[in-house]
Formats: sequence, structure tokens, C-alpha cells
Amino acid sequence: MRFSAMVICFCWLLSAPVVTAADGEGVALTETQKKLIDIGMGDNRVVSVLDQLVNGIGPRLTGSHQDHLACEWARDLFIEFGLENVVMEEAGEFPVAFQRGSWRGHMVTPERVDLEFGTPAWSAGTKGVQEGPAMMLPDNIENLDMDAMKGVWVMMPAQRGRRNREARQAQRAVTEKLETAGINGWIYPTRGEAITTYGNYRISWDELPTIPRIHLRKDQYDMIVEKLGADEEVTLRIDVRNHFQPGPAKYYNVIGDIVGTEFPDEYVIIGGHIDSWDGATGTTDNGTGTATTIEAARMLMASGAKPRRTIRFMLWSGEEQGLLGSKAWVSANPDVLDKISAVFVYDGGPNAIAGLPATKAMKADFEKVFEPVMNLNPDLPFTLKDVDGIPRGIGSDHESFLAKGVPGFFWTQDGRADWRRGIHTQFDTFDLVIPEYLEHSTTVIALTALGVGNLDGLLSREGMVEPGGGRRRGGGGRRLGVMLDENTISEVMADSAAEKAGMKAGDKIVKVGDQEVSDRQSLIRAIMGGDPKKKVVFEREGKRMEAIIDWPQPNRRPQNRPAPEEPKEEKKEEKKRGDVR
Ligand SMILES: [Zn+2]
Repeated sequence: MRFSAMVICFCWLLSAPVVTAADGEGVALTETQKKLIDIGMGDNRVVSVLDQLVNGIGPRLTGSHQDHLACEWARDLFIEFGLENVVMEEAGEFPVAFQRGSWRGHMVTPERVDLEFGTPAWSAGTKGVQEGPAMMLPDNIENLDMDAMKGVWVMMPAQRGRRNREARQAQRAVTEKLETAGINGWIYPTRGEAITTYGNYRISWDELPTIPRIHLRKDQYDMIVEKLGADEEVTLRIDVRNHFQPGPAKYYNVIGDIVGTEFPDEYVIIGGHIDSWDGATGTTDNGTGTATTIEAARMLMASGAKPRRTIRFMLWSGEEQGLLGSKAWVSANPDVLDKISAVFVYDGGPNAIAGLPATKAMKADFEKVFEPVMNLNPDLPFTLKDVDGIPRGIGSDHESFLAKGVPGFFWTQDGRADWRRGIHTQFDTFDLVIPEYLEHSTTVIALTALGVGNLDGLLSREGMVEPGGGRRRGGGGRRLGVMLDENTISEVMADSAAEKAGMKAGDKIVKVGDQEVSDRQSLIRAIMGGDPKKKVVFEREGKRMEAIIDWPQPNRRPQNRPAPEEPKEEKKEEKKRGDVR
């Protein structure tokens, strides 16, 4: 595939001066390291690679056409660079494929306003252009005039804060009834200006979603509610092209090697997830991690690197649905895990790589590996942080390896960008890219791969598991210590809060505190919010169980944490809400 950006890039290269890195400041660089740094500073193509991926191919929802296309494109690049053992390997499948087309909407009366909104992945689009009045959700079923609701856009109340059980049940009765009334769709407010995309792939071809769920930017939602409150007639015209295709919708991991000269069956793994949510172009989550992996591979090949052990480049799909690609790979390759020195995952967005955690046992090796990185750019320092175990709970593909005892690292990143802005929102587009950060990070990754590949031995695993697991970034230290498949536990970490609470793999968490949860996102949100002491309700073999987990306050030491109470069967049966978002 040809992209005009590629042509622009080559023209730029012809006129660009080749910068030669100084090997001063006491660091003796090998010829290959010098070449890598020269390429990294003078012929770094990571921005162009990213452009091809996120603007040329677009967003990459797992199992979608673009996800497949991106994997083929990455595989072909790996082959073009001369990597060995290149495969695009099936990692799993979804029952239905989802293709997001265009979406547009306006308020047409009382005045015209373009609407900014999103819809979840694997949710219904409109049946062509659908125009109809906006109406607040009726309070109760008695006030419901079914005929009057036909063709209506129903404004759902914001589901924030506590609501009593009766109010919830009354609302559920109304929404269930309305599903058969021929409404145009539901309109929900977002929390703020960000429109977050998520979605549940567990749908079936025989029972596809039929009613659109519009997530309208909060200020526009509020404007409509205000007009309705003033008895103005509001008409909305919305056109959402969401398409389903019968599955199986397969997803893949793309893998390629620079085979080691001395220890070909030992590995250092460089990677990131290639899939993304599809509300924007998936530029910083995780086009950046994909592009840095691909460009690091090209740079290493161009430098003529001959590492002692194999450098393996991996791009995983299905990350956003629960690390599916990387989990599938570690499960399918148990014999290789002992031979993996370390895994370095880039999934932190637009800022520059700025460091890594290092345990005591791996510190000396890391100091050697990162020596050439320390002086790369004085404006972008690199720091090794002493830790009593590799941090857990950041929620990217390195966790799949950590769960199997393989040193898995998530790069520490720093810089001027607000790294949260793009995550799963409509803002995750190319304008968030900071080229000098991305180029620097790629050079760091390539030097790291080479350095770990050339160490005398595998990185030490001694003391890599922190007692009780690490801390979730920004979460005030609240961790369950589990691997999740949506809201079902697929694995419980040793010595974790979940293990102490008696939870097991297969348990499906349905409620945390007073919040019912139905997927990974709602579960994490429920854990992070409110009081640190929470009742967790879960289903095991059809029975409802509960446990109390009391997360430590961020400033309290973990050993002061009281032991969680034993799980017991919940006395009251409580029906799971059907309309959980
Ligand atoms: Zn990500």
C-alpha cells in the first residue's frame, strides 16, 4: 500500500543532516550502538509509520477489518525488514465482527446544532437517517403512552450517584417496556467533554442489538434537557452506520525475530498492542506502541545488529478487551516462558520514555543496558527506580507475562502531554503526537532490546514479585490482584487482595459497593470510586457470594491492611440489572 506521507518522509530525509552521536561522557559505545543512535537521531521514521497506521488504516477495533489490515501491514513490514520467523498468528475470535461507519447527528428544531456523540462498539446503528422528537424518559410505567413513544429519541437521566432500589426498578420497567415501543434510540450524557468508547463483544448473530445508544457530549445533552424543561419541541436527526458481520471475527498477534547468534532460544521481547477502540484513530492508545515497536525493528535491522539472544517483536490484538492476544500467546507457549529475559511493553501514550523500575537483583544488568540511554538527550533523562518488585496492575500486555513469572515492564513516560486525554476518547488523533518524544522513545527501545539481548545471562527474576502485588497507577493503591476477562476473573495473583478474600478464577464480579458492574470498565470504575472499604459480590457456579475488601489508604503501609473477611453466600437474591451501561 502506498501512502503519500511516505513520499514526504523520504524527501525530508534527503535534505536532513545526519547527526552523529557523541560517544563522550565516559560511555564506550559499541559500533552497533553508535549506528543505532545515528539512525535514531538522523533517520528515524517512527512518525511516518504511525501516520500510515492510524491515518492510512485507521482505528483498529479487535476483530474488525482494519485490525486485520493493520496486522497484515505490520507482518509485511517485518518481512520487508528481514526479520525471521515472521507470523501473523491467530489468537482468538469473537462471535460477531463490528465495523463502525460514519456517524452524524443534528438538532434540527428549535434551531440547528451539530451534535457531538459516540456509540459503543458492538452496538446498534440507526436504520438510516432517523428523525424524531427528543423526550425525557418517563418516570414510571403508569405514565407511559406507548403510541406516543414511537420514533422518539429517549433522553436517559444521568446515572450518577446513589439511587434507591425502587427508583432503579421503576426505571428498568420503563426501559424494558420502551424497547418494544419502536423508539429511535436512547440518548445518554457523557461525564464531560470526553466521549469514551467502550463496548462488549459478547453479542450473538441471532440476537443483535437493535436500539442505538447515543452518548451525547454533556453540554449538548444538558442544552436539550433545558429546552425540554422549557416545553420547547426538540427534534433530532441522527445517522449512525454501525455494521455487524457474522463471525467468527478472528484476531491475531504479529511476531518477528532477530534470531540470536549465541542463545537463539532465549528472548527479549519488545511490543505493544496493535488493536484500539474505534471512536477516533487509536493514535496514542496504542498506535504509538505499535509504531515504536515496528520502527525499533527496522532500526535494529538497519544497524546490522547481531544480538547474542533473540530479539522478538510482538504486536498483540484484543488488548482492550482484556489482554486477549498476549494472554493467548503465553498460554500457548508455556515452554518458552522460562527463556524470556524480559518483556518491554509500550502502551503509555504520547510522552517520552523516561525510565523503568528495577529490582535489586536486576539493577547491575539494567545499569549496563541503559548506560547508552542515559546520555542520549539531556532534555529527556532516563531514570532507574529502585523497587521491591515489578509494579503490577497497570493493565497492559506485560501483565500477561508477569502473571506467568516473566519480568514484564511498562515503560515509565514523562513529558508535556496529558497522557490521559486520548485514552479511548474522541481526542485520540494524530495531533496528540509529539514527534521528538516518539523518536527518542524508539531509539531507547532499540538500545534496550540490543542491551538485554547481549547480556551474559537472563535478567534475574529474584525478588520480582512484590508482596501483595504493586499499585495501580492513579488508583490510590486499590488493586484486586486479578486478571480480568471483562468482569470475570481469569486468574488470581498470589498474595493479592482477591486471593485473601477467597476469590477464584471463574468468579464473575457483579457488584462492588453499591455499584453493579457488567464489564471491565465499570468494575474498575467501581473499585476506584468512593470508600476504600467495599463489599464485592460475585457469582460462582450460579451462587452469589460476597467478600469485604478494605483497600489501604494511599498513605498507609500495606502490612497495616486488615485481613478481608471470608466470603459468604449472599442471602438476598438480586436480579442483575438489564440496562447497565
Ligand atoms: Zn492501550
